[in-house]
Amino acid sequence: MPFEVTILGNNSAIPAHGRHPTSQVVQIHEHFFLVDCGEGTQMQLAKYKIRKNKFDHIFISHLHGDHYFGLIGLITSYHLMHRERPLHVHGPKGLLDIINLQLAVSNTTLYYELIFHEVKSELVNVLLETDEYSISSFPVKHRIPTHGFLFKEKIGLRKINPDKISELNFPFQIIAELKKGNDCEWEGKLLKSNEWTLPPVAPHSYAFCADTVYHEELKQYIAGCDVIYHEATFMEESSERAIITFHSTARQAAAMGKAIGVKKLLIGHFSAKYDNLLPLLAEAKEIFSETELAIEGQVFSI
Ligand SMILES: [Zn+2]
Ligand SMILES: [Zn+2]
Repeated sequence: MPFEVTILGNNSAIPAHGRHPTSQVVQIHEHFFLVDCGEGTQMQLAKYKIRKNKFDHIFISHLHGDHYFGLIGLITSYHLMHRERPLHVHGPKGLLDIINLQLAVSNTTLYYELIFHEVKSELVNVLLETDEYSISSFPVKHRIPTHGFLFKEKIGLRKINPDKISELNFPFQIIAELKKGNDCEWEGKLLKSNEWTLPPVAPHSYAFCADTVYHEELKQYIAGCDVIYHEATFMEESSERAIITFHSTARQAAAMGKAIGVKKLLIGHFSAKYDNLLPLLAEAKEIFSETELAIEGQVFSI
């Protein structure tokens, strides 16, 4: 079952050097979620052949323009496309007022229902939960209220033991129970789940840490994550600027990845002052070798 993140935008503040403001697509199994929606997100979706109709939930981390200036465009496109399914937008207080003002001055009544969920940035909130996954938000430390998002798979069903497949001639309901871990009786025989099935694939998790200054408290929210995205707006030579602007350096992002012990760290939200990103990657890799640049168009498996 796929669990992947596709990078649509990796630049901070302004589009530059062919890079776009922040946006990512997270796919958990058959479900697609949009995380932040900077300017140009629709064009990036088209470029990477991701149909915008796949999204029912959009998650916005904070109200700096480089994270949501593409949202009204996408909302309007859905309207013009006569979308019928409701659209859920999860974002900070104030976002709904902005959307409503933009719709009101253009005299637009949406064709579909937009359901807004206010995210309280200072808290941990479960935003969406199903049998397969949960999506929650957690506080980060930035110049305005900001939260990251944690995507977690849940433990799936046990897998049929491939050595037993040729003997597996029971009704579907019995197989379903065995996959749930339940022993069953069938035609007077006791069928033990742990003989007929193997443990499920371990669940994975991904954290999008939004815009943040280096913040020790983050560790408690994203401990145990397989992959994290942590911003690396600057290099260490600009560490004072990073503090003033509530951003992080590549070295600090790497220190976070190392402290958590993630399998992979993605760095992004690069300052427009950097045309070449390789020095940022090199700086991070000095601390944590399992670092990759969140390059637009790349798909990372979680
Ligand atoms: Zn930003
Ligand atoms: Zn910001």
